[in-house]
Amino acid sequence: MSMSHKPTLIEKTAEALHVIPNLHKDENGAFTAPAAGSEMACPPPESWDSWVEYDSKSWPEKKQREYMLVPTSCFNCEAGCGLLAYIDKETMEIKKFTGNPYHPASRGRNCAKGPATINQLEDPDRILYPLKRVGPRGSGKWEQVSWESVLDDISSRIRKALQEKRNNEISYHVGRPGHEGFMDWVLKAWGVDGHNSHTNICSSGARFGYAIWQWYDRPSPDHANAKFILLVSAHLEAGHYFNPHAQRIVEGRMKGAKLAVLDPRLSNTASMSDYWMPSFPGSEPAVLLAMVKVIIDEGLYNRDYLENWVNWRQYLQAEYPDRQAAFETFIDVLKEEYAEYTPEFAEKESGVPADTIRDVARQIGDAGERFSTHVWRSASSGNLGGWAVSRTLHFLNVLTGSVGTPGGTAPSAWNKFKPTFHTKPEPQKFWNPLHFPDEYPLAHYEMSFLLPHMLKEGRGKLDVYFTRVFNPVWTYPDGFSWIEALEDESKIGLHVALTPTWNETAYFADYVLPMGHSPERHDLVSYETHAGKWIAFRQPVLRVAHERLGTPKEFTWQANAGEVWEEDEFWLELSWRIDPDGSLGVKQHFESPYRSGQKLTINEYYRHIFEHTKNLPEAAARQGLSPLEYMKKYGAFEVESDVYSLHRNAIDPDGAEVDAVDGTITRDGKAVGIQDGNEHCTGFPTPSRRQEIYSQTMVDWKWPEYKLPAYIKSHVHPDNIDRSRNEFALIPTFRLPVLIHSRSGNAKWLAEIAHRNPLWINADDAASMGIANGDLVRVNTDIGFHVNRAWVTEAIRPGVVASSHHIGRWRRDQDAKGNRWATSLVSIERENGGKWRMRVKESVEPFESSDPDSGRIFWSDGGVHQNITFPVHPDPISGMHCWHQKVRLEKAHADDRYGDVVVDTARSFAVYKEWLAMTRPAPGPGGLRRPTWLNRPLRPADETYYIS
Ligand code: SF4
Repeated sequence: MSMSHKPTLIEKTAEALHVIPNLHKDENGAFTAPAAGSEMACPPPESWDSWVEYDSKSWPEKKQREYMLVPTSCFNCEAGCGLLAYIDKETMEIKKFTGNPYHPASRGRNCAKGPATINQLEDPDRILYPLKRVGPRGSGKWEQVSWESVLDDISSRIRKALQEKRNNEISYHVGRPGHEGFMDWVLKAWGVDGHNSHTNICSSGARFGYAIWQWYDRPSPDHANAKFILLVSAHLEAGHYFNPHAQRIVEGRMKGAKLAVLDPRLSNTASMSDYWMPSFPGSEPAVLLAMVKVIIDEGLYNRDYLENWVNWRQYLQAEYPDRQAAFETFIDVLKEEYAEYTPEFAEKESGVPADTIRDVARQIGDAGERFSTHVWRSASSGNLGGWAVSRTLHFLNVLTGSVGTPGGTAPSAWNKFKPTFHTKPEPQKFWNPLHFPDEYPLAHYEMSFLLPHMLKEGRGKLDVYFTRVFNPVWTYPDGFSWIEALEDESKIGLHVALTPTWNETAYFADYVLPMGHSPERHDLVSYETHAGKWIAFRQPVLRVAHERLGTPKEFTWQANAGEVWEEDEFWLELSWRIDPDGSLGVKQHFESPYRSGQKLTINEYYRHIFEHTKNLPEAAARQGLSPLEYMKKYGAFEVESDVYSLHRNAIDPDGAEVDAVDGTITRDGKAVGIQDGNEHCTGFPTPSRRQEIYSQTMVDWKWPEYKLPAYIKSHVHPDNIDRSRNEFALIPTFRLPVLIHSRSGNAKWLAEIAHRNPLWINADDAASMGIANGDLVRVNTDIGFHVNRAWVTEAIRPGVVASSHHIGRWRRDQDAKGNRWATSLVSIERENGGKWRMRVKESVEPFESSDPDSGRIFWSDGGVHQNITFPVHPDPISGMHCWHQKVRLEKAHADDRYGDVVVDTARSFAVYKEWLAMTRPAPGPGGLRRPTWLNRPLRPADETYYIS
């Protein structure tokens, strides 16, 4: 890390007078400087063992408190920002969290959710001991058990399944990810195809649209250096890598960048933009292709980039073999292909004025290589064909040559660290059809949200099912179908919920195992937040504090509250017990690389990774530290900075052939790189090694109509919506900046700020239906309805309604009193098997607890659980759940109450079948289940890719 900020005279004076801490005395290398751009006031690291502040609660008395400061990483969203824990040395209690200026992505800053981590630690409703159910599943009866008995029971069950070759009956289902590669390593060591994630209700749509261009499945925008920024979503306030990206968007704007936002809703981001384009949901590709057309027609494209780095020759050869194979032909053909996408056509589809589309397109052309973009969730996760949003957005980056340039948008993996493990297990020899069914050969991630329906169809069963910080009953669509599946012990033999907090899914577990919050566990974090590559060390701060004081703990739980374990140590212990004699081949992976035959410790696991992290051993040695000591001290490290144009990395052309016409470098008949002038470059990891505007994959896998970036009409396209019946497109995908899925419920400060999710409805629409602000509205979906309050506003375009997606938490009478800052007490009735009815009995209200604030709760609104009234909508190509709903609004009926939910799961199963019928199943070419070149999580052995 380098120090880019030179202290001003005022800062020097302030430092000399100790008005602010001295952050600059490291210029002679005395200590590592804060991350470039942090400019935060923070105690210098040499005082982190002993830092004295006045106790704010003792005011007006001036009482000093001595703290130890220990860095860790936030776990309240995926961004993994740096936190600095202040530990009272007298009581060994964590008192507060601030930002860690040594974290290269967050640079000392946090959003509200970061400091609110203290609430989660102090939550009076948290789970402190392992629990086992004693009544029927879901009955709410639990007994405290020992960790020894838990580990023995689960490990023997897994061992038996592995011995009997029932490997596909072991499944690990993750909500909030992390663990950089750790769980893939564990599951591979077990030999199970058992990774299941939440990605197909989150980001698979966007990922597939990127992957089909370039293999890499996420964008990494360099907003800070951009000249023009285009966001398809509310990215600045609540998007992916929210705080690190928001900082850099603001930085870019302060340097003159213009910001445009495509979003039907006037989000905080849209309100700060230069161009708000409130497009009708699903019409975004039409708008983006109209911009493409303007750029092509007006010659604003980057000819050099297109000519060298796009597979246009392959396209002409496949589709226009009779035309001259020249770049000019390619441009002519593009003009023909996209002739219909005039700005006027896009205006008709989207409602965005044609002149605005033209204006933005020209500015994009003018920005050229300094054009940064991002789309996450929102449009790409809401619509049938939502993956076309990222595909057409990336088209603009390709046209302008802004892929991986300063101020442009890089492939994600360029900025993401991959750890080196001390063992490398063989890929598993199983293909789990519950995760990757043949109907979805291009599904970018596991079809996790179809699990209840696939179990119902008898496609398989699970013997041991782990849910880890994962709450599908509440977060996923069709939650009542999840309850039906979780209650059925013939389908799910053992459900183990690893969670720091009670949630709607844990109520239906067999074991509830308390796992640490971010400052109570180890984890490795790395994300694509800017044009650099970094790692952050999430570490149990009290354990580290004990170590510094010379009273080290053997296990993290010994430093945590109650018997709260950390996940890494849980998996290491469990794995060791699965294979005590080594006969299954599992044990070898969990042996120490430093002590032959001994069980791996958590310190050894991370020691090995950090010793093999580029540049880290040298940086640590400069301070007389080992790599592990360095990471414990600073909590983060910038592995590389200014990462650009990695597709130009050199390869050795020896023994390879270079195509004289297009410069493709091949070895054994397979493209391995591109010659550009005199350079031999790696290119992109696609079959052509180029950006693939033309996708032979889409042709081969039965979707020839999408061989080029295209506009796919959404299931909520106006053609499918009858406004005379008061039908609307519902957007349920947006976040409030202070909340995050089910993770934020246990933070009282956040619940105090935001605790309801009303239905946004345009003032004209509300007037036409006679709906006033605050009126109760029945929102009818395909499988039932929920009852919410209207919020009448101009901040959403007509014809569209919206409700944020992280409020409406609940618990039943029989459930543990969990998360009472944010849960309503509900009754749930079930009739004739599949007819479910939920009603709020008591909303959020003050309660007695060890925290006096619980008696001061002033809000009485816990919001409405809307997701449970949505059927599954699996996109037939990307596999993404298409969140947007066609809903019919009506005024609430006389007996409707706020928060009512009614669902028919027989109907939800029928909707699943309707969407399933849209697929074009495997096999593909050569009997493949899935194209081999596309990435797949926990990639199994090559032979499993073929349907036998
Ligand atoms: S953006 Fe906020 S919630 Fe997410 S990691 Fe950073 S501080 Fe935590």
